[in-house]
Amino acid sequence: MQRKKRHGFSMALAGALALAGLFALTAAILLRPEKRLSIPEPVQATEAPAEEVYTTPSGKKYHRESCASLKNSENLKTWTPEAAREAGYTPCKSCDP
Ligand SMILES: [Zn+2]
Repeated sequence: MQRKKRHGFSMALAGALALAGLFALTAAILLRPEKRLSIPEPVQATEAPAEEVYTTPSGKKYHRESCASLKNSENLKTWTPEAAREAGYTPCKSCDP
């Protein structure tokens, strides 16, 4: 009788431990999405319509001010996107003005 009782007790203990482990796992999984949601807004927020675009004397494309293609260029021209398009420039693919 005693052996059976002890056996049953340890089984219950193991079950409780397994449940606690499962609960901890579930809690960890459930907490992750909340952390992801608190990550700052996506970069797309900066893709508001550009006021001014820039062209290089040699290039056929117009760029945002922040574009890496402009960093090695001098004598940049400033345009509105509409004016640059009318002058025959096309939007740069890397800075997507
Ligand atoms: Zn560019």
